[in-house]
Amino acid sequence: MNVESLAERLGRRTTRRGREHYYPDASDADWNDWRWQFRHRVTTLEELARFLPIPAAEWAARSQVLSDFRMGITPYYLSLIDADDPNDPLLRQVVPLAEENLYRAVGDEDPLGEEKFSPVPGITHRYPDRVLMVLSNNCAIYCRYCTRKRTMYDGASADVEIDRMVDYIARTPSVRDVVVSGGDPLNFATAKLDSILSKLRAIPHLEIIRIGTRVPVALPQRIDDELCEMLARHHPLWINVHYNHPNELTPDAARACDKLSRAGVPLNNQAVLLKGVNDDVATIKALCHGLMKMRVRPYYLYQCDPVRGAEHFRTPIAKGIEIIEGLRGHTSGLAIPTYVIDAPGGGGKIPVQPDYLLHYDREKGRALLRNYQGKLYEYLEPRAANASPNDVLVPAAPPAASGPVALAGSNKKRVEAASAGAPSSNGNGHAAGATGNGTPAGNGQASGNGSSASNGRNGAAPVVGKSKWVHRGSTRAERAARTKKRDK
Ligand SMILES: *Cc1c(COP(=O)(O)O)cnc(C)c1O
Ligand code: SF4
Repeated sequence: MNVESLAERLGRRTTRRGREHYYPDASDADWNDWRWQFRHRVTTLEELARFLPIPAAEWAARSQVLSDFRMGITPYYLSLIDADDPNDPLLRQVVPLAEENLYRAVGDEDPLGEEKFSPVPGITHRYPDRVLMVLSNNCAIYCRYCTRKRTMYDGASADVEIDRMVDYIARTPSVRDVVVSGGDPLNFATAKLDSILSKLRAIPHLEIIRIGTRVPVALPQRIDDELCEMLARHHPLWINVHYNHPNELTPDAARACDKLSRAGVPLNNQAVLLKGVNDDVATIKALCHGLMKMRVRPYYLYQCDPVRGAEHFRTPIAKGIEIIEGLRGHTSGLAIPTYVIDAPGGGGKIPVQPDYLLHYDREKGRALLRNYQGKLYEYLEPRAANASPNDVLVPAAPPAASGPVALAGSNKKRVEAASAGAPSSNGNGHAAGATGNGTPAGNGQASGNGSSASNGRNGAAPVVGKSKWVHRGSTRAERAARTKKRDK
């Protein structure tokens, strides 16, 4: 794919324009040299004020939060920010703002309890088969909402500490997956990272290595041939990138991801849901579509952690659900991340999604589902896990009148709302015949004509949607009893 045209097709600002605005004197050689980018990171308010306006009244508040958590913005990332927009979504991610000061004391140092689950410094072992390994305190950019702010003060892990982490994995055979994450592992010199990965690879029970990085977002120049060749020697190796906004999907970013993909590294994206940055369906959809074009699979959408100083970034959970609801069915399934809440205190990632299963009667083997358009469908489970050849098939009787389906309280409203908007005909005609021929609008009834919502399995000749054949015998319990009798 022509990467140059990607940003244009997405209608995004290109790096070049921004670069000319902010760094008119930088040579191509410098600009494309990741070391130059790294050295020229903006780390003080004075420097920042050369590029972006800082209201006089905000200096004190902003320097206060800067003393809490450092700033680092690569010239490349800065060049993507619109200097005239104080609410620019990239600016908000990396520039200390007065809002942050407002909530300076709100939130936790270590919201995920990573220290509590740490058998040796740098390792968090929360799940039985995989561990998180944090090698450094160094990132290309510092994200104001970072959940690991607390670690960004200590020096990078010394070699002996890294060896201790590797040793922990080596003597813990249950670990088959390691996530090497931020501080950013790709900030290490290639040879150094090579030696760490080699040590990990030498552990026989370690199946896969994952790297979590924001370098392809903030410093894509770092993804050079030498790095990719090195990474390719440590397969199976996966990389999780961290794009939050479509404005970050530039030609340089696309080139970096393309290089990694060609090195055989599968790329997945972990975005964080951030108020004022990406908290609407259109933005996340554009992000996910752009990622797909770069052959990056949206993996997680994280609810923002309650970390100190990030209160202004947090959204209600309903926002995340609304976004997923706006994606499912409306775009490629591959473009839809799993929305997760990392449980405070260390419960791990918990997936949250809209309720599509409105009612599920396990005993009767019946489920009421709604699709992305709010239409209702009934799904009937297999007659029984213990169905026997004696469960002969008989032709179905003519359709019987349907009755209401019992709904759990919280789902009832949703069904009513969904029914109200549902078209009058939605039969899908597939053999299992889960749906009826018409959903009565607005009355909260779940199924239409011909569906066996209320009487299907209690009567002698149940009627199931449009299917011609049904099993004799109404409930799973009865069938089980029959089977038992026969086996005696
Ligand atoms: C996120 C995380 C992992 C990896 O979780 P997956 O769901 O497998 O991606 C492992 N350990 C810790 C401590 C984590 O926070
Ligand atoms: S790149 Fe990751 S680890 Fe580094 S500051 Fe941003 S969120 Fe935190």
